[in-house]
Amino acid sequence: MSTEVLEEKLKRLCAVFLEENGKLNLSAFRTEETCWVGNILDSLAYCDLPLSFTSAATVLDLGTGGGFPLLPLAIAMEQTRFTGVDSVQKKVDAVERLIHTMELPNARCVCGRAEELGRNPDFREQFDIVTCRGVADVNVLLEYCSPFVKPKGRVVLWKSLTIDQELNDSLLARAELSLHLVLQHPYELPGNFGKRQLVVFEKGSPLSDKYPRDVGIPKKKPLL
Ligand code: SAH
Repeated sequence: MSTEVLEEKLKRLCAVFLEENGKLNLSAFRTEETCWVGNILDSLAYCDLPLSFTSAATVLDLGTGGGFPLLPLAIAMEQTRFTGVDSVQKKVDAVERLIHTMELPNARCVCGRAEELGRNPDFREQFDIVTCRGVADVNVLLEYCSPFVKPKGRVVLWKSLTIDQELNDSLLARAELSLHLVLQHPYELPGNFGKRQLVVFEKGSPLSDKYPRDVGIPKKKPLL
């Protein structure tokens, strides 16, 4: 796909997303400019990771909300199959409508909680990469994400630059969930959005049957 065609598709996504957002309140970015930078360019930061980290057949986007980073990445990476997951049905319905309007044969969206789908054999350890933007602290996210990743697969988290404490607090979670920190990739967005980073973990051995714990427990009693 040429850069022009890609940009045209992403502009259209921005417009149809803002229309859905007007009805459903999916995102705080309500203007074309803030949605373009805060949702679309921010999602695409993933495409600047070294290729060895992004070439994958299957990606699951956990807590996709209104479809970020799911939708921009499904547009930009046509050869990869994307599955969005969110626990709120009306968000999943909105994302399904956006997938339909944008004609994205490589994307789908499923309603469910990470703690439940992570035990479903159709989802457990079935994905090369799990992405997640803006859902919880690192230790909680790793328990949500690890169940979906194949051994040798990766988890990619969208985070602010100041997460030293969060990373320190995730040492037990990393050991328990067999995820090793392999890359921190800083990037800068235009305007007031400033600097952010992608944090990448790689999975070692298959996950213990203990995880994920029951619905609500990873957040209420985070591994610490
Ligand atoms: N990734 C989107 C939305 C972030 S808001 C974005 O960056 O714009 C966090 C989303 O995670 C919400 O839509 C919420 O419904 C979902 N979520 C939170 N905990 C979850 C869980 N345990 N399982 C599935 N989805 C969850």
